[in-house]
Amino acid sequence: MRRLISCGWIIAYRDGAHRLLRNGKVVVENDRVTHVTGGTVEGDFDQRLDLPDALLTPGLIDMHAHITSAPFDRSYVEDVGKPGFYFSGLPELLPAMGAALDDDAIRAATDFSVAELTRNGTTTVFDIGGPGDYTAQAIETAGLRAYIGEGYGSAKWRTRDGKRMSYDWKPDGGMNGLEAARDFAERIDGRANARLKGLMSPMQVAMVTPELLARTKAVAEDLDIPVTLHTAEAVFEFNEMIQREGLSPIEWLDAQDFLGDRVILGHTIFTSGNSWINYPGRDLDIIAQSGASVGHCAWVFSRRGIVMESFADYLDAGINMCLGSDTAPQSMLLAMRAGSILSKVATRDSRRASAREMFDAATLAPAKVLGRDDLGRIAPGAKADLVLWDGMGFSMTPLRDPLRNLVFSAQPEDIRHVMVDGDWLMTDRNLLKINEEHVTRGLQEAAERVWRNMGPGDWAGRGIDQLSPPELEDF
Ligand SMILES: [Zn+2]
Repeated sequence: MRRLISCGWIIAYRDGAHRLLRNGKVVVENDRVTHVTGGTVEGDFDQRLDLPDALLTPGLIDMHAHITSAPFDRSYVEDVGKPGFYFSGLPELLPAMGAALDDDAIRAATDFSVAELTRNGTTTVFDIGGPGDYTAQAIETAGLRAYIGEGYGSAKWRTRDGKRMSYDWKPDGGMNGLEAARDFAERIDGRANARLKGLMSPMQVAMVTPELLARTKAVAEDLDIPVTLHTAEAVFEFNEMIQREGLSPIEWLDAQDFLGDRVILGHTIFTSGNSWINYPGRDLDIIAQSGASVGHCAWVFSRRGIVMESFADYLDAGINMCLGSDTAPQSMLLAMRAGSILSKVATRDSRRASAREMFDAATLAPAKVLGRDDLGRIAPGAKADLVLWDGMGFSMTPLRDPLRNLVFSAQPEDIRHVMVDGDWLMTDRNLLKINEEHVTRGLQEAAERVWRNMGPGDWAGRGIDQLSPPELEDF
């Protein structure tokens, strides 16, 4: 299969950076880009697309997703929170919802997520760890590219009184979960023309033993796969590490010799210097020197009144900054937009974090930590993971500087075609591999069941209307 895509605007990659190619041509042969040129291309093609008004970009890479549950955040976690937990949703909101998720609900969320990701121009998703086999099947069916794993840990946190967190440590230290995750990663790695890859995901820095971290690192090196860990994501977790270890979460991971260039730290908001914790130290330097990356999810924190301080400062420290969605909506457009705006607010400087810095964080930075010089770019030899945007849509015109339009204006409706691995997943805004009405109705039905079943997972047995009172009273 040989395709020729001619476009008015192409974000093409050359000499280490994205560049703007006007009126260019991209040749796709099977699953890869073979030519990128502003000149002419000879030969026969099975398909020709001539789109003078369109913008062609590499597909976006979401480096922090929970596709088996994130859709249920919508209509539930917004506008609520507890001051004593510094507004984190982790102690109360998410456990109540998590306990109400039955297998069908998890499948409905997964089916919805793969459609939502495609509609938002995400072509590679890094999923932190849910029930793996169904996720793998859903990704394969949807045609997306994904790194997935099964999450595990040495402990689980919970609150018994709505005031403090306690930790239930597992007798095996989480080793059985780790070995199951290892088996899963080995089983799926390379499936679907290698669109599926494994990862290791010990869930949270406050819920792992040094032994589990060491074994995780050894397994990841052995399998040559990335590792991710939620870190410095809540004030209560930061304080727990200070009280337990006398070290910040980052300092403790460094002391365990865990950090390295295949590690993606999820969130990493509460680092030394952050105004919520006022902890002196050099966390950013530690991360940068270790080569570890950060998966920053601006939207989920800003909704809780929390911002990274700041994305631009993390970049300046030399950290490989990636972006993720984490919650609903699962949109890298929103991840880039919120990430940029909130960095500007945090630093009171409109020049950073720029559209280009955010676009790099959604493309080249993830490719770097994944060890993939064939992702996140349009260049000869790169995978044909492409998004075609309608350049004359209401939120894209006038078009002069495409990255600014994408980061600050574009809507999912501006995305016309999506290709992954040389295969069309969406054409003319129609998903080709997913029945959209089926997945949206399936999610609504599942959510109504989840909402009814919320009480048992809450320490006080509260139902959804107590945990998250509706905005409006009944008419
Ligand atoms: Zn997460």
